[in-house]
Formats: sequence, structure tokens, C-alpha cells
Amino acid sequence: MRTIVVSGGSSGIGRATALRFARAGDRVISLDVTEPPRPSGSDGELSWIHCDVADWTAVDDALARVHRDHGLDVVIANAGISVRHGVLDITEEAARRVVDVNLLGTLGLWRSAARLMTGGRGGSGDGSGSGSGKGGGGGVLLATASVNGRRGYPYYADYNATKAGVIALTQTFALELSPDIRVACVSPGAVLTPMQLAEYTDAMLDDVNARIPAGRHASPEEIAAAFHYLASPEAAFLTGQELVIDGGETAGA
Ligand code: NAD
Repeated sequence: MRTIVVSGGSSGIGRATALRFARAGDRVISLDVTEPPRPSGSDGELSWIHCDVADWTAVDDALARVHRDHGLDVVIANAGISVRHGVLDITEEAARRVVDVNLLGTLGLWRSAARLMTGGRGGSGDGSGSGSGKGGGGGVLLATASVNGRRGYPYYADYNATKAGVIALTQTFALELSPDIRVACVSPGAVLTPMQLAEYTDAMLDDVNARIPAGRHASPEEIAAAFHYLASPEAAFLTGQELVIDGGETAGA
């Protein structure tokens, strides 16, 4: 049984991803500041550790516990926040929090995971994600970036910058950690999750749908399916890359 850690696994994309892996037979541990919905009997092995990914000490402690008890095969840095604000109105406090959670939260989680997966020195895994998870290599690091990291979207300057940063982390971690650890990120376009619904009116959602060639938002399960593939042995030759799942939104950009 593989051990998968997902940050932000209580809601939206993270929740769908946690369920997808757990129902397929993996052990899944979510790191989140919010308690998850109670799992049903068919949800497989799914648990939660309260952890703010902006707190690197808490992240180190949580991952060390997981690694000691179960090993560590795949870590998905998915927790993220966004605030809609124009560049003239951004406050330092709000911007720092977005950077702390989305960008530094990914860096800290991946750093901690990579140290444990390599035993602090690198190993000789095959990059398939099916290694022992006990420090011999073979781990997989994944993250949720965004199409917002690929081009400008008004009113989300800090958020967009953090997602561009996650794509840069993906490339850099892959170069430093290959062949022991594979690294990839998914860049979703618009996904119907509580994050999106909290900030968009019905009219704004319709506007978004109109500019997406597929004519709709993605479901969280469609993004979870991409993570499931990226973590699988079928993706063993894929590292340092971003997989864009956006219904064609950025195809012409
Ligand atoms: P969501 O709000 O439904 O879920 C985010 C989860 O992250 C929540 O459970 C929340 O409690 C958790 N979280 C927030 N801050 C945290 C912290 N400091 N530490 C630990 N957990 C924390 O949002 P979502 O739409 O599912 O977003 C998931 C990821 O997908 C984010 O990184 C987001 O930027 C990205 N994304 C979302 C969309 C979209 O359209 N919804 C598009 C592209 C990328």
C-alpha cells in the first residue's frame, strides 16, 4: 500500500484527489487547517493531520510522523488560497499570506518530503512512485499550480505570481532530485470548487464558461484523475513538467 500525503485535502481539488487515491487502495493523509467531511465506509484509508503548510516546523513534524509510521511515496502540495484585489489595493498582510501558503507552503512541504524520501542524501529509485517510501528514492512530488501562473489575470497579482513560482519549483526540484524523485505539477483552469464559488457570482461564472473552449468549468475529479496518472508508474518518464488541464482556455494565448 502506497502512502500519499495531500495538503488541502479537506475541500475541492484536494478532497477529490484524496478520495481518488484512497478508493484505489492507497493510504492517504491530508494536511489541512480545516477538518475534512466525515468519510463514508467506501472512502478507503483516509486520515487528517491538522497542519498549516505555511509553518515549516509543523510540516516537518507532520511528515516525519507519517514517514516513521508508514513511509512516504507521494506528496501533493495542493493547499492554496486566493484573494481578489486590484494591484492598487493589495495589503502587505494579505499578499504575504498568499505567498506563505501557496509558494513557500509548496517549497517547505516538498523540501521536507524530499529529505525523507532520499534519507537526506538521494537514493536510487526508479521514479515510479512505487519505491519503499523509507528513504531509498522512488518518491513523487506533485503540486497544484494554475493557468494563472502562465499569463496575467487581473485582480490576482500575488496569486498569479505564486503559481508561476510553483511551476519554477517543479522544474528546479526535478533537476536537483532526478533520478531519485519525480516532480510535476498540474495547472488547472477554472474548477468548480468552494474557492471558486466563494469569489465568483453566477454572472462571473457564466463569463468564465464563455471564454473556455470546452464551455464549462472542470470538476475537481477531473484534476484528481491527472494526479492519479502523474503518481503512477505509467508516468515514470515524466518529470519537471506542468500538465495543463483547462478545457482549452490557454490554447490560443
Ligand atoms: P478549496 O478552497 O476548495 O480548498 C483548499 C483547501 O486548502 C481547503 O481545505 C483549505 O482548508 C486548505 N488550506 C488553505 N490554507 C491552508 C494552509 N495554510 N494549510 C493547510 N491547508 C490549507 O480550493 P480549491 O479550488 O480546491 O484549490 C486547491 C488548489 O487548486 C489551490 O492551490 C488553488 O490555488 C488551485 N487551483 C484552483 C482552481 C479553481 O478554479 N478552483 C484553479 C487552478 C488552481
